[in-house]
Amino acid sequence: MTPLRRHRMIKIVATLGPASSDYDTIRALFEAGADVFRLNMSHGTHDDIAARHAIIRKIETDTGRPIAILADLQGPKLRVGEFANGSEDLVEGAPFRLDLSEKPGDATRVNLPHPEIFAALEPGANLLVNDGKIRLKVNDCGKDFADCTVTVGGTISNRKGVNVPDVILPLAALSDKDRKDLEFVCRLGVDWLALSFVQRSADVAEARTLAQGRAAILSKIEKPAAVTAFDEILAVSDGIMVARGDLGVELPVQNVPPIQKRLVRRARAAAKPVIVATQMLESMIDSPMPTRAEVSDVATAIYEGADAIMLSAESAAGAYPIEAVVTMDNVAREVESDPTYIDIIDASRKNKHSSIADGIVAAARELAEKTDIAAICCFTESGTTASLVARERPHVPILALTPITKTARRLQLTWGVHCEVVAEVERFKKAVINAVRVTRKYGFGTEKDQILVTAGIPFNQPGTTNILRVAPCAEHLIVSGEPE
Ligand code: PGA
Ligand code: MN
Repeated sequence: MTPLRRHRMIKIVATLGPASSDYDTIRALFEAGADVFRLNMSHGTHDDIAARHAIIRKIETDTGRPIAILADLQGPKLRVGEFANGSEDLVEGAPFRLDLSEKPGDATRVNLPHPEIFAALEPGANLLVNDGKIRLKVNDCGKDFADCTVTVGGTISNRKGVNVPDVILPLAALSDKDRKDLEFVCRLGVDWLALSFVQRSADVAEARTLAQGRAAILSKIEKPAAVTAFDEILAVSDGIMVARGDLGVELPVQNVPPIQKRLVRRARAAAKPVIVATQMLESMIDSPMPTRAEVSDVATAIYEGADAIMLSAESAAGAYPIEAVVTMDNVAREVESDPTYIDIIDASRKNKHSSIADGIVAAARELAEKTDIAAICCFTESGTTASLVARERPHVPILALTPITKTARRLQLTWGVHCEVVAEVERFKKAVINAVRVTRKYGFGTEKDQILVTAGIPFNQPGTTNILRVAPCAEHLIVSGEPE
Protein backbone atom coordinates (compact mmCIF):
# COMPACT_ATOMS: atom_id res chain seq x y z
CA MET A 1 0.00 0.00 0.00
CA THR A 2 1.23 3.51 -0.82
CA PRO A 3 1.95 5.37 2.43
CA LEU A 4 -0.08 8.40 3.44
CA ARG A 5 0.20 11.52 1.30
CA ARG A 6 -2.03 14.44 0.34
CA HIS A 7 -3.61 15.11 -3.03
CA ARG A 8 -3.70 18.88 -2.71
CA MET A 9 -1.28 21.78 -2.20
CA ILE A 10 -2.99 23.92 0.48
CA LYS A 11 -2.55 22.72 4.06
CA ILE A 12 -5.23 22.18 6.70
CA VAL A 13 -4.83 23.27 10.32
CA ALA A 14 -7.23 21.62 12.80
CA THR A 15 -7.68 22.98 16.33
CA LEU A 16 -7.93 20.30 18.99
CA GLY A 17 -10.36 20.52 21.91
CA PRO A 18 -12.94 18.51 23.82
CA ALA A 19 -14.38 17.06 20.59
CA SER A 20 -10.96 15.89 19.44
CA SER A 21 -8.73 14.83 22.29
CA ASP A 22 -8.45 11.05 22.03
CA TYR A 23 -6.06 9.04 19.86
CA ASP A 24 -8.71 7.67 17.50
CA THR A 25 -10.25 11.06 16.70
CA ILE A 26 -6.92 12.84 16.23
CA ARG A 27 -5.67 10.01 14.06
CA ALA A 28 -8.87 10.15 12.01
CA LEU A 29 -8.42 13.93 11.60
CA PHE A 30 -4.86 13.36 10.43
CA GLU A 31 -5.85 10.66 7.96
CA ALA A 32 -8.72 12.80 6.68
CA GLY A 33 -6.24 15.58 5.89
CA ALA A 34 -5.16 17.68 8.90
CA ASP A 35 -1.48 18.58 8.37
CA VAL A 36 -1.07 20.80 11.43
CA PHE A 37 -2.72 20.55 14.85
CA ARG A 38 -3.40 23.71 16.84
CA LEU A 39 -3.34 23.62 20.63
CA ASN A 40 -5.28 26.64 21.91
CA MET A 41 -3.72 27.85 25.17
CA SER A 42 -6.86 29.89 26.00
CA HIS A 43 -8.63 26.65 26.89
CA GLY A 44 -7.59 23.51 28.70
CA THR A 45 -5.05 22.77 31.42
CA HIS A 46 -1.36 22.03 30.89
CA ASP A 47 -2.21 18.37 31.48
CA ASP A 48 -4.76 18.44 28.64
CA ILE A 49 -2.23 20.11 26.34
CA ALA A 50 0.50 17.61 27.24
CA ALA A 51 -1.86 14.68 26.62
CA ARG A 52 -2.82 15.94 23.14
CA HIS A 53 0.81 16.66 22.34
CA ALA A 54 1.79 13.10 23.28
CA ILE A 55 -0.99 11.65 21.11
CA ILE A 56 0.15 13.66 18.06
CA ARG A 57 3.75 12.52 18.49
CA LYS A 58 2.53 8.93 18.83
CA ILE A 59 0.59 9.28 15.55
CA GLU A 60 3.78 10.54 13.90
CA THR A 61 5.61 7.42 15.04
CA ASP A 62 2.76 5.12 14.05
CA THR A 63 2.35 6.60 10.56
CA GLY A 64 5.95 7.62 9.88
CA ARG A 65 4.82 11.10 8.81
CA PRO A 66 5.99 14.39 10.34
CA ILE A 67 3.18 16.53 11.84
CA ALA A 68 3.36 20.20 12.85
CA ILE A 69 2.05 21.31 16.22
CA LEU A 70 1.07 24.96 16.61
CA ALA A 71 0.58 26.30 20.15
CA ASP A 72 -1.60 29.40 20.14
CA LEU A 73 -0.91 31.75 23.09
CA GLN A 74 -3.90 33.64 24.48
CA GLY A 75 -2.21 37.05 24.48
CA PRO A 76 -3.35 40.18 26.29
CA LYS A 77 -7.14 39.81 26.18
CA LEU A 78 -8.94 42.53 28.18
CA ARG A 79 -11.94 41.65 30.31
CA VAL A 80 -14.40 43.59 32.50
CA GLY A 81 -14.88 42.56 36.15
CA GLU A 82 -18.01 41.13 37.75
CA PHE A 83 -21.55 42.42 38.28
CA ALA A 84 -23.57 42.22 41.51
CA ASN A 85 -26.36 40.62 39.48
CA GLY A 86 -24.12 38.66 37.14
CA SER A 87 -25.25 40.77 34.19
CA GLU A 88 -26.91 44.08 33.24
CA ASP A 89 -28.80 45.36 30.21
CA LEU A 90 -27.16 48.45 28.75
CA VAL A 91 -29.48 50.75 26.82
CA GLU A 92 -28.40 52.86 23.86
CA GLY A 93 -27.76 56.50 24.85
CA ALA A 94 -27.26 55.71 28.56
CA PRO A 95 -24.08 56.70 30.42
CA PHE A 96 -21.78 53.89 31.59
CA ARG A 97 -18.53 54.14 33.53
CA LEU A 98 -15.53 51.85 33.58
CA ASP A 99 -13.19 52.21 36.54
CA LEU A 100 -10.62 50.56 38.77
CA SER A 101 -12.95 50.12 41.75
CA GLU A 102 -13.31 46.47 42.69
CA LYS A 103 -16.92 46.94 43.86
CA PRO A 104 -19.29 44.65 41.89
CA GLY A 105 -20.75 46.37 38.83
CA ASP A 106 -24.30 47.61 38.25
CA ALA A 107 -26.28 49.32 35.47
CA THR A 108 -24.09 52.46 35.72
CA ARG A 109 -20.52 51.12 36.06
CA VAL A 110 -18.18 48.14 36.15
CA ASN A 111 -14.56 47.40 36.96
CA LEU A 112 -12.01 47.26 34.13
CA PRO A 113 -8.89 45.99 35.91
CA HIS A 114 -6.33 47.45 33.48
CA PRO A 115 -4.84 50.80 34.65
CA GLU A 116 -2.65 50.95 31.54
CA ILE A 117 -5.79 51.09 29.37
CA PHE A 118 -7.11 54.16 31.18
CA ALA A 119 -3.74 55.82 30.66
CA ALA A 120 -3.93 55.19 26.90
CA LEU A 121 -7.62 56.00 26.28
CA GLU A 122 -8.73 59.29 24.76
CA PRO A 123 -12.17 60.87 24.41
CA GLY A 124 -13.78 59.61 21.20
CA ALA A 125 -12.30 56.09 21.46
CA ASN A 126 -14.66 53.14 21.05
CA LEU A 127 -14.74 50.18 23.40
CA LEU A 128 -16.26 46.97 22.06
CA VAL A 129 -17.60 44.48 24.59
CA ASN A 130 -18.53 40.83 24.05
CA ASP A 131 -17.23 40.35 20.48
CA GLY A 132 -18.40 43.81 19.52
CA LYS A 133 -22.05 43.19 20.38
CA ILE A 134 -22.01 46.17 22.78
CA ARG A 135 -20.30 49.49 21.97
CA LEU A 136 -19.25 52.28 24.31
CA LYS A 137 -17.89 55.66 23.27
CA VAL A 138 -15.50 57.44 25.65
CA ASN A 139 -16.58 61.02 26.57
CA ASP A 140 -14.15 61.74 29.34
CA CYS A 141 -11.37 59.75 30.97
CA GLY A 142 -8.69 59.91 33.62
CA LYS A 143 -6.08 57.65 35.13
CA ASP A 144 -8.67 55.43 36.83
CA PHE A 145 -11.95 55.90 34.96
CA ALA A 146 -13.62 56.33 31.59
CA ASP A 147 -17.07 57.88 31.31
CA CYS A 148 -18.78 56.50 28.24
CA THR A 149 -22.06 56.58 26.36
CA VAL A 150 -23.63 53.31 25.22
CA THR A 151 -23.79 53.56 21.42
CA VAL A 152 -24.96 49.98 20.87
CA GLY A 153 -26.82 48.38 23.77
CA GLY A 154 -27.11 44.79 24.92
CA THR A 155 -26.51 42.48 27.85
CA ILE A 156 -23.14 42.78 29.53
CA SER A 157 -22.10 40.03 31.92
CA ASN A 158 -19.20 38.91 34.12
CA ARG A 159 -15.67 38.92 32.62
CA LYS A 160 -16.77 39.68 29.07
CA GLY A 161 -13.95 40.53 26.66
CA VAL A 162 -13.20 44.13 25.67
CA ASN A 163 -11.59 45.26 22.40
CA VAL A 164 -10.13 48.75 21.99
CA PRO A 165 -9.51 49.00 18.25
CA ASP A 166 -8.67 52.71 17.96
CA VAL A 167 -5.80 52.83 20.42
CA ILE A 168 -2.36 51.20 20.45
CA LEU A 169 -2.38 49.73 23.91
CA PRO A 170 0.74 49.88 26.04
CA LEU A 171 0.24 46.22 26.87
CA ALA A 172 3.02 43.71 27.05
CA ALA A 173 2.51 41.31 24.15
CA LEU A 174 2.82 38.42 26.54
CA SER A 175 0.95 38.19 29.84
CA ASP A 176 2.34 36.23 32.79
CA LYS A 177 0.15 33.34 31.68
CA ASP A 178 1.55 33.57 28.14
CA ARG A 179 5.13 33.42 29.44
CA LYS A 180 4.36 30.34 31.52
CA ASP A 181 2.50 28.72 28.62
CA LEU A 182 5.32 29.55 26.19
CA GLU A 183 7.94 27.88 28.36
CA PHE A 184 5.65 24.91 28.96
CA VAL A 185 4.97 24.24 25.28
CA CYS A 186 8.57 24.87 24.23
CA ARG A 187 9.65 22.23 26.72
CA LEU A 188 7.02 19.83 25.40
CA GLY A 189 8.35 20.52 21.92
CA VAL A 190 6.05 22.41 19.54
CA ASP A 191 6.92 23.57 16.02
CA TRP A 192 5.04 26.85 15.84
CA LEU A 193 4.05 29.44 18.44
CA ALA A 194 1.16 31.72 17.49
CA LEU A 195 1.07 35.15 19.16
CA SER A 196 -2.36 36.71 19.71
CA PHE A 197 -3.08 40.46 19.44
CA VAL A 198 0.37 41.38 18.13
CA GLN A 199 0.51 45.18 17.78
CA ARG A 200 4.11 45.89 16.73
CA SER A 201 7.28 44.12 15.65
CA ALA A 202 8.78 44.43 19.15
CA ASP A 203 6.05 42.06 20.40
CA VAL A 204 7.40 39.37 18.11
CA ALA A 205 10.99 40.03 19.15
CA GLU A 206 10.06 39.46 22.78
CA ALA A 207 8.53 36.04 22.06
CA ARG A 208 11.49 35.11 19.90
CA THR A 209 13.90 35.83 22.73
CA LEU A 210 11.91 33.59 25.07
CA ALA A 211 11.48 30.79 22.52
CA GLN A 212 15.24 30.66 21.81
CA GLY A 213 14.82 28.92 18.50
CA ARG A 214 12.75 26.09 19.97
CA ALA A 215 9.70 27.06 17.86
CA ALA A 216 9.01 29.22 14.83
CA ILE A 217 6.95 32.37 15.50
CA LEU A 218 3.63 33.06 13.79
CA SER A 219 1.98 36.46 14.26
CA LYS A 220 -1.81 36.61 14.41
CA ILE A 221 -3.05 39.72 12.66
CA GLU A 222 -6.19 40.69 14.58
CA LYS A 223 -5.63 44.35 15.59
CA PRO A 224 -5.86 47.41 13.32
CA ALA A 225 -2.40 48.40 14.61
CA ALA A 226 -1.01 45.12 13.30
CA VAL A 227 -2.58 45.73 9.88
CA THR A 228 -0.94 49.16 9.78
CA ALA A 229 2.44 47.80 10.90
CA PHE A 230 2.09 44.61 8.86
CA ASP A 231 5.28 44.91 6.80
CA GLU A 232 7.51 45.29 9.81
CA ILE A 233 5.68 42.51 11.68
CA LEU A 234 6.02 40.21 8.66
CA ALA A 235 9.74 40.97 8.47
CA VAL A 236 10.37 39.62 11.97
CA SER A 237 7.85 36.73 11.90
CA ASP A 238 8.23 33.22 10.47
CA GLY A 239 4.55 32.99 9.55
CA ILE A 240 1.24 34.87 9.63
CA MET A 241 -2.35 34.13 10.60
CA VAL A 242 -5.21 36.23 9.23
CA ALA A 243 -7.21 35.97 12.48
CA ARG A 244 -10.55 37.03 11.07
CA GLY A 245 -12.52 36.50 14.29
CA ASP A 246 -11.04 39.36 16.30
CA LEU A 247 -10.12 41.32 13.19
CA GLY A 248 -13.81 41.50 12.25
CA VAL A 249 -14.60 42.89 15.70
CA GLU A 250 -11.79 45.42 15.82
CA LEU A 251 -12.48 46.68 12.30
CA PRO A 252 -15.69 46.96 10.27
CA VAL A 253 -16.38 43.43 9.05
CA GLN A 254 -16.29 44.50 5.39
CA ASN A 255 -12.62 45.45 5.80
CA VAL A 256 -11.65 41.82 6.46
CA PRO A 257 -11.73 40.42 2.88
CA PRO A 258 -9.43 43.06 1.33
CA ILE A 259 -7.04 42.76 4.29
CA GLN A 260 -7.05 38.97 3.88
CA LYS A 261 -6.13 39.31 0.19
CA ARG A 262 -3.33 41.77 0.88
CA LEU A 263 -1.82 39.82 3.78
CA VAL A 264 -1.88 36.55 1.86
CA ARG A 265 -0.03 38.16 -1.08
CA ARG A 266 2.58 39.86 1.05
CA ALA A 267 3.31 36.79 3.17
CA ARG A 268 3.61 34.66 0.06
CA ALA A 269 6.01 37.15 -1.54
CA ALA A 270 8.14 36.90 1.60
CA ALA A 271 8.08 33.06 1.35
CA LYS A 272 6.47 32.84 4.80
CA PRO A 273 3.42 30.61 5.41
CA VAL A 274 0.07 32.35 5.89
CA ILE A 275 -3.03 30.79 7.46
CA VAL A 276 -6.57 32.04 6.77
CA ALA A 277 -8.50 31.39 9.98
CA THR A 278 -11.86 31.50 11.70
CA GLN A 279 -15.47 30.71 10.81
CA MET A 280 -14.47 28.92 7.60
CA LEU A 281 -17.03 26.14 8.14
CA GLU A 282 -18.78 27.56 11.20
CA SER A 283 -22.15 25.90 10.51
CA MET A 284 -20.44 22.48 10.61
CA ILE A 285 -20.16 22.88 14.39
CA ASP A 286 -23.67 21.43 14.43
CA SER A 287 -24.34 20.32 10.88
CA PRO A 288 -22.70 17.64 8.72
CA MET A 289 -23.13 19.91 5.68
CA PRO A 290 -21.51 23.33 5.21
CA THR A 291 -23.37 26.31 3.73
CA ARG A 292 -22.64 27.27 0.12
CA ALA A 293 -21.20 30.55 1.39
CA GLU A 294 -18.74 28.71 3.64
CA VAL A 295 -17.59 26.47 0.80
CA SER A 296 -17.10 29.60 -1.24
CA ASP A 297 -15.06 31.20 1.56
CA VAL A 298 -12.77 28.15 1.77
CA ALA A 299 -12.41 28.19 -2.02
CA THR A 300 -11.55 31.91 -1.99
CA ALA A 301 -8.63 31.35 0.39
CA ILE A 302 -7.36 28.59 -1.91
CA TYR A 303 -7.70 30.76 -5.05
CA GLU A 304 -5.83 33.51 -3.20
CA GLY A 305 -2.87 31.18 -2.72
CA ALA A 306 -2.92 30.93 1.09
CA ASP A 307 -0.61 28.29 2.55
CA ALA A 308 -3.20 26.93 4.95
CA ILE A 309 -6.84 27.10 5.98
CA MET A 310 -7.90 26.56 9.57
CA LEU A 311 -10.67 24.95 11.58
CA SER A 312 -11.36 26.31 15.07
CA ALA A 313 -14.49 25.25 16.96
CA GLU A 314 -15.45 23.07 13.98
CA SER A 315 -12.75 20.55 14.91
CA ALA A 316 -12.25 21.47 18.59
CA ALA A 317 -15.79 21.48 19.89
CA GLY A 318 -18.14 20.63 17.02
CA ALA A 319 -20.18 17.52 16.34
CA TYR A 320 -18.52 16.86 12.93
CA PRO A 321 -14.75 17.40 13.21
CA ILE A 322 -13.77 14.74 10.66
CA GLU A 323 -16.42 15.85 8.18
CA ALA A 324 -15.09 19.42 8.42
CA VAL A 325 -11.57 18.28 7.45
CA VAL A 326 -12.97 16.12 4.64
CA THR A 327 -14.96 19.12 3.35
CA MET A 328 -11.83 21.30 3.23
CA ASP A 329 -9.88 18.52 1.51
CA ASN A 330 -12.63 18.04 -1.10
CA VAL A 331 -12.93 21.76 -1.81
CA ALA A 332 -9.14 22.07 -2.14
CA ARG A 333 -8.87 19.19 -4.59
CA GLU A 334 -11.65 20.60 -6.73
CA VAL A 335 -10.35 24.18 -6.75
CA GLU A 336 -6.75 23.18 -7.40
CA SER A 337 -7.76 21.22 -10.49
CA ASP A 338 -9.69 24.18 -11.91
CA PRO A 339 -7.87 25.79 -14.88
CA THR A 340 -8.98 29.21 -13.59
CA TYR A 341 -7.16 28.51 -10.31
CA ILE A 342 -3.97 27.80 -12.24
CA ASP A 343 -4.40 31.06 -14.21
CA ILE A 344 -4.93 33.06 -11.02
CA ILE A 345 -1.95 31.54 -9.22
CA ASP A 346 0.30 32.05 -12.26
CA ALA A 347 -0.80 35.65 -12.68
CA SER A 348 -0.08 36.48 -9.04
CA ARG A 349 3.53 35.36 -9.24
CA LYS A 350 6.15 38.06 -8.80
CA ASN A 351 9.01 37.73 -11.26
CA LYS A 352 11.64 39.43 -9.19
CA HIS A 353 14.77 37.43 -8.65
CA SER A 354 17.55 38.84 -6.59
CA SER A 355 19.63 35.81 -5.67
CA ILE A 356 20.94 32.56 -7.11
CA ALA A 357 18.45 30.64 -4.97
CA ASP A 358 15.57 32.76 -6.37
CA GLY A 359 16.75 32.04 -9.90
CA ILE A 360 17.04 28.31 -9.28
CA VAL A 361 13.57 27.94 -7.79
CA ALA A 362 12.06 30.02 -10.60
CA ALA A 363 13.83 27.84 -13.16
CA ALA A 364 12.61 24.71 -11.37
CA ARG A 365 9.02 25.95 -11.55
CA GLU A 366 9.34 26.86 -15.21
CA LEU A 367 10.87 23.52 -16.16
CA ALA A 368 8.19 21.69 -14.21
CA GLU A 369 5.52 23.57 -16.13
CA LYS A 370 6.95 23.26 -19.60
CA THR A 371 8.20 19.68 -19.44
CA ASP A 372 6.95 16.48 -17.95
CA ILE A 373 8.27 16.73 -14.42
CA ALA A 374 6.58 14.71 -11.66
CA ALA A 375 7.95 16.53 -8.60
CA ILE A 376 10.45 19.11 -7.41
CA CYS A 377 12.63 17.56 -4.71
CA CYS A 378 14.71 19.79 -2.51
CA PHE A 379 17.29 19.00 0.07
CA THR A 380 16.84 21.44 2.85
CA GLU A 381 18.33 21.88 6.30
CA SER A 382 16.68 25.06 7.52
CA GLY A 383 13.67 24.70 5.21
CA THR A 384 14.54 27.86 3.25
CA THR A 385 14.92 26.17 -0.14
CA ALA A 386 11.56 24.41 0.22
CA SER A 387 9.89 27.69 1.24
CA LEU A 388 11.36 29.45 -1.79
CA VAL A 389 10.13 26.71 -4.12
CA ALA A 390 6.69 26.93 -2.48
CA ARG A 391 6.61 30.70 -3.06
CA GLU A 392 6.75 29.95 -6.79
CA ARG A 393 3.53 27.91 -6.43
CA PRO A 394 4.61 25.28 -9.00
CA HIS A 395 2.04 22.91 -10.51
CA VAL A 396 3.80 19.79 -9.21
CA PRO A 397 4.34 18.60 -5.63
CA ILE A 398 7.37 19.83 -3.70
CA LEU A 399 9.22 17.12 -1.79
CA ALA A 400 11.28 18.52 1.06
CA LEU A 401 13.93 16.04 2.09
CA THR A 402 15.69 16.88 5.30
CA PRO A 403 17.73 15.10 7.95
CA ILE A 404 16.21 17.44 10.57
CA THR A 405 12.86 16.32 12.04
CA LYS A 406 12.13 19.83 13.32
CA THR A 407 12.46 21.25 9.79
CA ALA A 408 10.16 18.57 8.36
CA ARG A 409 7.51 19.31 11.00
CA ARG A 410 7.62 23.08 10.54
CA LEU A 411 7.36 22.79 6.77
CA GLN A 412 4.07 20.93 7.08
CA LEU A 413 2.43 24.36 7.28
CA THR A 414 3.90 25.42 3.92
CA TRP A 415 1.92 25.23 0.68
CA GLY A 416 2.56 22.21 -1.54
CA VAL A 417 5.37 20.73 0.54
CA HIS A 418 5.46 17.01 1.30
CA CYS A 419 8.10 16.52 3.99
CA GLU A 420 10.23 13.46 4.53
CA VAL A 421 13.00 12.88 7.02
CA VAL A 422 15.99 11.26 5.28
CA ALA A 423 19.47 10.33 6.38
CA GLU A 424 22.15 12.99 6.10
CA VAL A 425 23.91 12.82 2.71
CA GLU A 426 27.41 13.90 1.85
CA ARG A 427 27.29 13.48 -1.91
CA PHE A 428 24.84 14.87 -4.42
CA LYS A 429 24.54 11.51 -6.21
CA LYS A 430 23.24 10.01 -2.99
CA ALA A 431 20.78 12.88 -2.66
CA VAL A 432 19.37 12.17 -6.13
CA ILE A 433 18.91 8.51 -5.26
CA ASN A 434 17.04 9.51 -2.11
CA ALA A 435 14.83 11.86 -4.10
CA VAL A 436 13.91 9.10 -6.58
CA ARG A 437 13.20 6.69 -3.72
CA VAL A 438 10.86 9.09 -1.89
CA THR A 439 9.10 10.14 -5.12
CA ARG A 440 8.32 6.52 -5.95
CA LYS A 441 7.49 5.51 -2.38
CA TYR A 442 4.56 7.95 -2.18
CA GLY A 443 3.46 7.49 -5.76
CA PHE A 444 4.41 11.03 -6.82
CA GLY A 445 6.20 9.57 -9.84
CA THR A 446 6.80 6.29 -11.63
CA GLU A 447 9.42 4.70 -13.90
CA LYS A 448 8.77 6.88 -16.97
CA ASP A 449 8.77 10.17 -15.07
CA GLN A 450 11.49 12.68 -14.46
CA ILE A 451 12.05 14.71 -11.31
CA LEU A 452 13.91 17.89 -10.46
CA VAL A 453 16.37 17.94 -7.61
CA THR A 454 17.62 21.13 -5.97
CA ALA A 455 20.21 21.38 -3.25
CA GLY A 456 22.96 23.55 -1.89
CA ILE A 457 26.50 22.26 -2.22
CA PRO A 458 28.32 21.93 0.09
CA PHE A 459 25.55 20.29 2.12
CA ASN A 460 24.76 21.42 5.66
CA GLN A 461 25.12 25.13 4.97
CA PRO A 462 21.79 26.96 5.08
CA GLY A 463 20.99 29.35 2.24
CA THR A 464 23.31 27.89 -0.38
CA THR A 465 20.82 26.59 -2.97
CA ASN A 466 22.98 26.36 -6.08
CA ILE A 467 22.14 23.13 -7.93
CA LEU A 468 19.25 22.15 -10.17
CA ARG A 469 19.30 18.71 -11.68
CA VAL A 470 16.90 16.72 -13.86
CA ALA A 471 16.88 13.01 -13.05
CA PRO A 472 14.90 10.03 -14.32
CA CYS A 473 12.62 8.52 -11.71
CA ALA A 474 14.05 5.12 -12.56
CA GLU A 475 14.19 2.07 -10.32
CA HIS A 476 17.68 1.10 -11.51
CA LEU A 477 19.06 4.29 -9.95
CA ILE A 478 18.02 3.10 -6.53
CA VAL A 479 19.24 -0.42 -7.14
CA SER A 480 22.57 0.46 -8.69
CA GLY A 481 23.09 3.32 -6.31
CA GLU A 482 24.31 5.51 -9.15
CA PRO A 483 22.31 8.16 -10.98
CA GLU A 484 24.03 7.52 -14.30
P1 PGA B 1 -8.66 33.06 18.33
O1 PGA B 1 -7.88 33.68 17.12
O2 PGA B 1 -9.45 31.91 17.82
O3 PGA B 1 -7.58 32.67 19.27
O4 PGA B 1 -9.48 34.21 18.84
C1 PGA B 1 -8.35 33.62 15.81
C2 PGA B 1 -9.21 34.82 15.44
O5 PGA B 1 -9.35 35.77 16.20
O6 PGA B 1 -9.70 34.77 14.30
MN1 MN C 1 -8.37 35.99 18.07
